[in-house]
Amino acid sequence: QTTRQPVDRWVKSYCPYCGVGCGLLVGLHQGRVVKVKGDPDHPSNQGDICAKPVYLPPVLQTPDRLCHPQMRAHRGEEFRRVSWDTALEHVARRLEQILAEHGPDAIGFYGSGQFTTEDYYLANKFVKGFLGTNNFDANSRLCMASAVAGYVRGLGADGPPTCYEDIQHADCFFLIGTNMADCHPVLYQKIRRRKAEDPDRVRVMVVDPRRTRTASIADLHLPIRPGSDVALLNGMLHVLLEAGRVDPDFIARYTRDFHQVAAAVQAYPPDRAAALCGIEPELLVEAAMAFGQAQAVLSFWSMGMNQSTQGVAKNSALLNLHLATGQIARPGAGPFSLTGQPNAMGGREAGGLAHLLPGYRQVTDPQHRAEVAAHWGIPVERLSPRPGYSALELFEAAAAGKVKALWIMCSNPAASMPNLAQVDEALRRAELVVVQDAYHPTDTSRYAHVLLPAAQWPEKEGVMTNSERRLTYLPAITPPPGEALPDWQIIARLAHKMGFAQSFTYASAAEVFAEFVALTRGRPCDYAGVSHERLQREGPLQWPCPAADHPGSPRLYTGRVFPTGDGRACFQPAVHQEIHEQPDDEYPLVLNTGRLKDQWHTMTRTGKVPQLLKEAPEPFLEIHPTDAARWQLQDGRPVAIISRRGRAVAVARVTDDVRPGTCFMPFHWGRLLSPHGAANDLTSAARDPISRQPELKACAVRVQPMEIE
Ligand code: SF4
Repeated sequence: QTTRQPVDRWVKSYCPYCGVGCGLLVGLHQGRVVKVKGDPDHPSNQGDICAKPVYLPPVLQTPDRLCHPQMRAHRGEEFRRVSWDTALEHVARRLEQILAEHGPDAIGFYGSGQFTTEDYYLANKFVKGFLGTNNFDANSRLCMASAVAGYVRGLGADGPPTCYEDIQHADCFFLIGTNMADCHPVLYQKIRRRKAEDPDRVRVMVVDPRRTRTASIADLHLPIRPGSDVALLNGMLHVLLEAGRVDPDFIARYTRDFHQVAAAVQAYPPDRAAALCGIEPELLVEAAMAFGQAQAVLSFWSMGMNQSTQGVAKNSALLNLHLATGQIARPGAGPFSLTGQPNAMGGREAGGLAHLLPGYRQVTDPQHRAEVAAHWGIPVERLSPRPGYSALELFEAAAAGKVKALWIMCSNPAASMPNLAQVDEALRRAELVVVQDAYHPTDTSRYAHVLLPAAQWPEKEGVMTNSERRLTYLPAITPPPGEALPDWQIIARLAHKMGFAQSFTYASAAEVFAEFVALTRGRPCDYAGVSHERLQREGPLQWPCPAADHPGSPRLYTGRVFPTGDGRACFQPAVHQEIHEQPDDEYPLVLNTGRLKDQWHTMTRTGKVPQLLKEAPEPFLEIHPTDAARWQLQDGRPVAIISRRGRAVAVARVTDDVRPGTCFMPFHWGRLLSPHGAANDLTSAARDPISRQPELKACAVRVQPMEIE
């Protein structure tokens, strides 16, 4: 509880932080949000929450809330307050000028997994349907693009086939590349409780180079070398094949191309696979047998698998394990990717990446373009068949002078993207930078020409989808401060200014949502039976939910039919590759970056709450005692971390929780909060060739002790 003020009434809402998607109860006193607690009726969390949303009330009205549109002609000048009309008129004319001089691909939009689905949908419609470019990507690219590609290639469509209730049915949890205790705390507690209920039967395996808080409940912790996940997973399948622990009937009836994977994993006998992983072969064999002997295996993963130059291969290797053992499409069994953000799933559904259109459609598919164009009432030629720039490419293109206008919404890429020097260059070089946010200054807004004030939770209504495909309605509970507006309304107003009023006239977010859900009809993410009104009346629902009387679907593919054309899931061979930037004499350590339990992204909200800063008031670097001794680092003393791209400063935490030769730093602190350099000054923009997701989990660095004046 954050205030002693009495609560007049409680309103149901949804947590604006992570992808677990917990339901909240928001306590109001005289119209102001004064308390937040878990909603016991929300089926995803049953009242449980972590600390972050508890401290939302004090960050809604901070002095840095952006309340009015502001503009300036040049960076370095002061911003001046202007009307919405002036700001949008200016932006519309500048965009038209850039369109006329350089074409639509000279404009780029960067959105966020914290958008509502309505925001996502309308931004996509405006950019892809009316500006004529697919240059709309989102920070979700940094989070789950590899999982999207893995699901599409293996199962035929995006989306985890599992649900939280599966935790109650599983007897084996395989957690790989995910520190759920810190990053998805409420879900982690469900697993912890399940383990405590039945400690002899339930096994928990944690694969992570670090001994994280999550690993504290593990029966088996596999501290593999960074980036060796494919070797581990292929090695495990090799063991299961040799031991006859695969499911030939499932393979024969419901899958194809198993022979390719069976041949590929022959190259990963336990000795070799374990050597690649830097663990004992016995550990790998034990993990494989635990997987193979379990009744129901539930695998969770997040950034440790996805943020990699092998992100898609890692996802495929894990799906191969589940398909080969028939551990899918029944209660308690299946692969379960976790989304980082509260509505990363909704973004996927609404087509919020540069290669997608709404309803899991692809911009490259002529039929898909025709369906969307007909729905939007535009000629199909308006929709470009070329995928737009993905997140990294968008900023690279701006740094190279190809993208002239950057519009950044609800995100802080000048702190969260890898290789910040290049992002700086992009933002400096762009002729027009529009930042639409709830706060100013941020690391990114400092580069803006135009600032547009956005409403945030709980000032706007809409729908979000969590990691188990569950849609929750969020009401607008309080009015936004000053002149701030919901993101979708800002887009609609700009569309009016640019002459597209007819296609952007909506009386409410419910109308935007209704237009979008019609595009999901008949698609794998069909929720044509969902509306604002139904969600308000019945509460959260899981898709597919194709009709108004359909109860929703906890699991996918329970009929063992996959949306692949022939109905069979498809094995995808995966080959181990080393991380992109190998340690060498000059940069001998591998840096891993990640989240902390009490912080969120670039700390624009959580960083203002003293209670949430208690565990980690400043950036730190975890380093093994052997490495600390070698480079004369002392626990609690400042350390400079240097990569080929930049330099950061943190406080050393000497611990054997990290492997020798590796170190870990949280990414939350941007340069606004850490002026001596941030984690992403160090990280590399190397990326997966298919998903375009960057390898934020591994780059080469060196360290040295330092003093800060
Ligand atoms: Fe919010 Fe995630 Fe914590 Fe749930 S676990 S309360 S969704 S941050």
